Formats: sequence, structure tokens, C-alpha cells
Amino acid sequence: MAGIYIHIPFCKQKCTYCDFHFSTTYQAYEQEMIDSFVKEIELRKAYLAGQTVETIYFGGGTPSLLNQEQLTTILTAVRENLTCSESPEITLEANPDDITAEKANAWKMAGVNRLSVGIQSFDDCDLKWMNRAHDSQQALNCLPIAQEAGIKNISLDLIYGLPDLDNERWKKQIEKAVSLGATHISAYCLTIEKKTALHQLVQQKKLIPAENEQQSEQFEILIKTLKGHGFDHYEISNFALPGFISKHNSNYWRGISYLGVGPSAHSYNGKSRSWNISNNPNYIKFLQKETFETFDWYEEEHLTPENIFNESLLIGLRTSWGVDLTALNAVLELDFKFNEKVDHYKAKGWMFESNEHLILTESGRHWADAIAEDFFI
Ligand code: SF4
Repeated sequence: MAGIYIHIPFCKQKCTYCDFHFSTTYQAYEQEMIDSFVKEIELRKAYLAGQTVETIYFGGGTPSLLNQEQLTTILTAVRENLTCSESPEITLEANPDDITAEKANAWKMAGVNRLSVGIQSFDDCDLKWMNRAHDSQQALNCLPIAQEAGIKNISLDLIYGLPDLDNERWKKQIEKAVSLGATHISAYCLTIEKKTALHQLVQQKKLIPAENEQQSEQFEILIKTLKGHGFDHYEISNFALPGFISKHNSNYWRGISYLGVGPSAHSYNGKSRSWNISNNPNYIKFLQKETFETFDWYEEEHLTPENIFNESLLIGLRTSWGVDLTALNAVLELDFKFNEKVDHYKAKGWMFESNEHLILTESGRHWADAIAEDFFI
């Protein structure tokens, strides 16, 4: 079992909070980028040799800027070079302003069976503040359009913890997402990343970020509201109706191999991790070379048992199925210090064990990253 991630490094404009890799001036080399994706898939197919690709994920950037031909070209390259299952989960990240009946039908025809829509908010004031390219009406209209085209598996992204977002308005946002028929919701707490417009505003003292307490309350509201609507809280930021968890992302969290294609994309195969350069022209330049003495466009790191141990904890503790203690012990033997820490967090009511898995309770999930770090070697 394996996955493919394709990073589409194009966006219409820069959102104020975003530190992902993308360019807003891509039109001149758009086709060269698609050709480079195809070449990278051909060159790196051995990475997943002997494994069946069960999930394909177009992330970004803004994959919904691709037209049907470009999408089909990439999917054909994946199918021709790798062994794919009969009906892989194919997810496309889409922004509301790109979702038209024509495009949604084209995505469906190309094989897309899951959309991940970057709604972020249903309120114009938030959308303007975030410099999103869509407005609230487009946020409301896009789901019915996609559903009408036959794409029923739709995830929505929402952001909470904005300075001006009060709890009542946040609850309404969640209710709105549910009422539109989302089968999956990913909700992220706003973080102020370096090199973003928001970070500059904070540095200039023109913006005061929301208090941690407010963000924590909104996380509680999120869990309570979505659980009330039958969603399973299966990862810190992810909630799904029965049968609609993201297979692709769940596979990341279960340590399944994946190949990342495109500028800034990461790959993982259980033994090593690699990451492509985050520069569109250079990525294209390297992939257009006729011969390769080394793989110029990516760097690779071989994972030590300590790396694997730490990553298993960091990722596993964020999920509802937790960390597999037998597998963890096979990487590095669990010693008395580890067990002492487990007892400590159990006594606090933040952790429990079930079927040889270490799992965080709901209150423990507020501190998932800090708890994981406490176990790091
Ligand atoms: S559309 Fe997505 S990737 Fe592009 S700038 Fe906005 S948040 Fe970042």
C-alpha cells in the first residue's frame, strides 16, 4: 500500500497566514511544470516499487487551478508508471472560487472522487482579513455545485482562533459546514508563521493574536459540535462521518510510504525521508536536464531509530488509534523512564492504553505535541 502526493505550487493570491510553497506568477511556465511532474514520476517510480498506490492527493498551492487536460496528464503518468489499485482515493484540494459546474464535472471525469475545499470561513470579514480569493457567497455555493457533479465525498477546511472570531460566530461556522453536507471537516487553529503578512503585523504591533484560552475554548466547541452531529474525531484537526476518513492522510499517520512530486513535496518510505527543492524555476530546470549524476532536485535523509521513534510518537498521539506500543518497542526498547512518563500522563487523565496502543484522552489532545516531545529521545 502506498500514496502519491502532487504539489501544485500555484495560487491566485497570497493568503495572509500562509507559509506554504507557491507562486502567484506561474502562467508563463505552467505547462513546463506539468511536464516536470511527469518526468519526476517516471524518474522516481522505483521509490514505490512492489507497492500498490491506493491514494493520490493533489495538494498545494491551489490544484483547482489545473484544467482537465493537465489533471489527466498527471494521472495518466501515475497510472502508467506505478501500480495503482482499481479505484484509488483521488483527492483534489479546491478553492471555492474555482468550483464551477464545468470544472467539477471535468474533475469527476478525470477520476477525482474526493474534494478538500478551502472554505476557511463563511464570513466576508474573516475572508477579507485572510486575503482569501473567494467570498462568503462562493463558500456557500460551492458544495452544492460539486455534489451535483457527483462528488459526494467532500471535506471542508475551517480556521478558528482568529483575533476577532468569538465563540458564537465560530459555532455558527461549524454548523454551516455540517448543514451543507460536508462528510469531513479539517479545522485548524490559526498560527502566526514567520514570513507571513500576519507575522509582520504582529511584529509591527498592529495585530494582537487571540489568547490561547480563546483558541482552546474554540477547540472544545469544535469537538462538541461535530461529535453531536455524528463526526468521529479521528485526528487532532480532522473529523469524519462514518466511512469518510481521509485514507491518504490516515496512511501518512500510519507510516505508510508515499512519493511526493513537485516543488517542496516530501516523500517517505519507512527508511528515509526526502524533500524537493522549494523553487519552481529550479525544479523545472533540474528535471529538464538530459542526464542526472545525482538527484539534483531533492535532498534525502536516512532515518535513525531515534528519528522513527520520535516521529511515531508525534504523529501517533494526534490520532484516535494512538501509538502502537509493540511497533514502537521494536524500533527502540521502551525503558522504565518511558513507562514513568506514561504513568504520569495517565494519572493526569491525559492518556490511556487500549490493545497495546497509547492514546490521548480528549483533554490530553490539547497538549498532544508537548506530550509527544516529552517522550522524545
Ligand atoms: S490558497 Fe492555500 S496555498 Fe494558496 S496562499 Fe492561500 S492558503 Fe496558501
